[in-house]
Amino acid sequence: MTASFDVHRIRQDFPVLMQTIGSKPLVYLDNAATSQKPQVVIDVIRRYYAEINANVHRGVHTLSQKATAAYEEARLKVKSFINAPSERQIIFTRGTTDGINLVVHCYGRQHIGAGDEIIISAMEHHSNIVPWQMLCEEKGATLRIIPMNERGELEIEAYKQLFSERTQFVSLVHISNSLGTVNPIETMIQIAHQHGVPVLIDGAQAVPHAPVDVQALDCDFYAFSGHKMFAATGIGVLYGKADLLERMPPYQGGGDMILSVSFDKTIYNEIPHKFEAGTPHISGVISLGAAIDYLNQIGRVAAMEYENALLDYATAQLADIPRVNLIGTAREKASIISFTIDEVHPHDIGTLLDMESIAIRAGHHCTQPVMQWFQIPATARASFAFYNTYEEVDRLVQAIHKVIEVFHHG
Ligand SMILES: *Cc1c(COP(=O)(O)O)cnc(C)c1O
Repeated sequence: MTASFDVHRIRQDFPVLMQTIGSKPLVYLDNAATSQKPQVVIDVIRRYYAEINANVHRGVHTLSQKATAAYEEARLKVKSFINAPSERQIIFTRGTTDGINLVVHCYGRQHIGAGDEIIISAMEHHSNIVPWQMLCEEKGATLRIIPMNERGELEIEAYKQLFSERTQFVSLVHISNSLGTVNPIETMIQIAHQHGVPVLIDGAQAVPHAPVDVQALDCDFYAFSGHKMFAATGIGVLYGKADLLERMPPYQGGGDMILSVSFDKTIYNEIPHKFEAGTPHISGVISLGAAIDYLNQIGRVAAMEYENALLDYATAQLADIPRVNLIGTAREKASIISFTIDEVHPHDIGTLLDMESIAIRAGHHCTQPVMQWFQIPATARASFAFYNTYEEVDRLVQAIHKVIEVFHHG
């Protein structure tokens, strides 16, 4: 346990966690689906609408200038947060899904043609599979899949073998949302670059968990979601290398993404504005800035170390329960435990745990190919944030014992 990390004080910052559901205090273990929001994030959204609501980038009046300043200040915070070289490389999106679709649409459609190949992995979220499949269908390209082993670790030797003359792109998840695997993306990016192939990283689960440095990783694109990192829903970030972004066509046409419009010729705005057509999610962007301030204040590394210790504690306990099978036992894991119980459908596990006021997720977690690989219909998934406690893990373990009793002795 990390002595410097006072989880009980941290929890006070999250009003949603203070409630009881039925007669028991809520245990929220569905953080991989969405995280809870600290009071400072809730306050900043309220304050934006109560005090400075105005459209950005267009007004000369005071409120519009204040809103624009707050919006662009958040972009600078994101830049520092992921160590991007410039705020011009921070594009605000609707979330990870939107960021990946932007790259598919603006980079993929320009560079990928008939007979070309795109490499993704066996553990991608549907949002890093389906947009590429749609592109392959349109262009006559093919997907090549990096296999994984029974622990849920990608096979790096097999990955190296997938490259050919036709490989045009690699798109990879940083931390798997269904298995918890932390992929060795730094090495994998280097391998792709040795073949001259650019790489997109899906960082939806990584950014809430650990410090991310896009320059150290040397990724070409990095996408993540605000709502999984303690900010509002409907907002996300796409980072890209400047030379790639500059050469890409716009995503959508509309206001804010142009410098000038006439019926003969329209001149597009500079990056990042070229990719931000229309009125953006202003309060969402500002909430993201507040979430970053909050994370910096509690200490990124201390939070990560605490969360890792909590995961180890939970894993050891669950592994000890007869009839419980852990799905995803990679040597490098973060924040997520997927499991099944013999002869109990994961949905029944979810429902019975809900009766104990414990929120977990049951299903395929938008990773149906992972379920197919393990030949299971679904898993139950407990996912942790730095505000979860050892006592909550104990309650999870007790509740799982109860589920087993109901099904095996009832
Ligand atoms: C949640 C998630 C996504 C999709 O994020 P949205 O916020 O729904 O766009 C993509 N990849 C991974 C690994 C995720 O966990």
